[in-house]
Amino acid sequence: MGATRIDGRALGRDIEDGLSERISSLAEGGVVPHLAVIIVGNDPASQIYVRNKQRSCQRIGMISSRIDMKPDTSQSDLISAVEKLNGDASVHGILVQSPLPPGIDELSVIEAIDPRKDVDGFHPVNLGRLVTGDKGGMTPCTPAGVMEIIRRAEVDLEGSRAVVLGRSRIVGMPLSILLAQRGADSTVTIAHSKTESLDEICREADILIAAVGKPEMVKSSWIKPGATVIDIGINRIKDDSKDGGTRLVGDVESGSESIAGIITPVPGGVGPMTIAMLMSNTVLAAERNV
Ligand code: NDP
Repeated sequence: MGATRIDGRALGRDIEDGLSERISSLAEGGVVPHLAVIIVGNDPASQIYVRNKQRSCQRIGMISSRIDMKPDTSQSDLISAVEKLNGDASVHGILVQSPLPPGIDELSVIEAIDPRKDVDGFHPVNLGRLVTGDKGGMTPCTPAGVMEIIRRAEVDLEGSRAVVLGRSRIVGMPLSILLAQRGADSTVTIAHSKTESLDEICREADILIAAVGKPEMVKSSWIKPGATVIDIGINRIKDDSKDGGTRLVGDVESGSESIAGIITPVPGGVGPMTIAMLMSNTVLAAERNV
């Protein structure tokens, strides 16, 4: 039997529908949630990501504004732009699109964002709240989207063994904490580039999460039959069927559907859920502001 494929686009639309109702309630009090995105330079993938975020804002009746800065923008000019948005009461969410050009320290820029407006959830205050289990912060969007997929798929985490491949500040590490926290109750192994016997570790996972950024690195033979497989990776590879064309693949080998119990596709799995959670954080920021 093949795995259940999660339709992240449909789940994302469902979340957006729920947000539309909350946005209508805010509108009664004269508040329209407003997401401001700063983009530095011309990275083509970033342009697509920002466009998708703006489209999502439009669909649900939120204001989105975009500040384009030149590739040679200095760190202090970027931080000044962030501070201006911090002081703008009409802006509820601020996002600085990564990657930033070389020479700009991303962490310093993130630390400049007012944690209440940090809808990406990357500010140390929000990551600290995540660790302490304080629900008053902003949860990073991709980890939050994965938890929402797991919840909606009715996967029982209590007593499960989860393996998270990747320990990044924005994906692997916060997601590992969410899976292990009280109420989720999974027992989590965090694997990374120095981990040995990765295949054996993966085979023990009831929940296998790949956030590595290496095309189809996780082989179907590494998957425990019936496991829930969440593929976060987004990798662009050459597509031999299209002349000079490319296509997106995840971190998990195609064909793994025949072994997994539940699986997320790439594209159309975690990606749309990440955007839905960004919208959700922005609405939350606006509600907390009222
Ligand atoms: P990073 O590059 O920051 O982190 C990658 C992690 O993978 C690191 O912890 C690294 O280990 C680990 N790693 C690298 N090679 C191996 C290996 N051979 N075996 C085991 N672990 C390895 O990436 P991100 O966390 O930012 O993103 C991961 C992927 O998720 C990317 O493809 C990205 O595009 C995608 N992504 C998707 C999103 C979505 O919405 N769907 C959102 C955000 C990211 P080490 O720490 O030792 O270097």
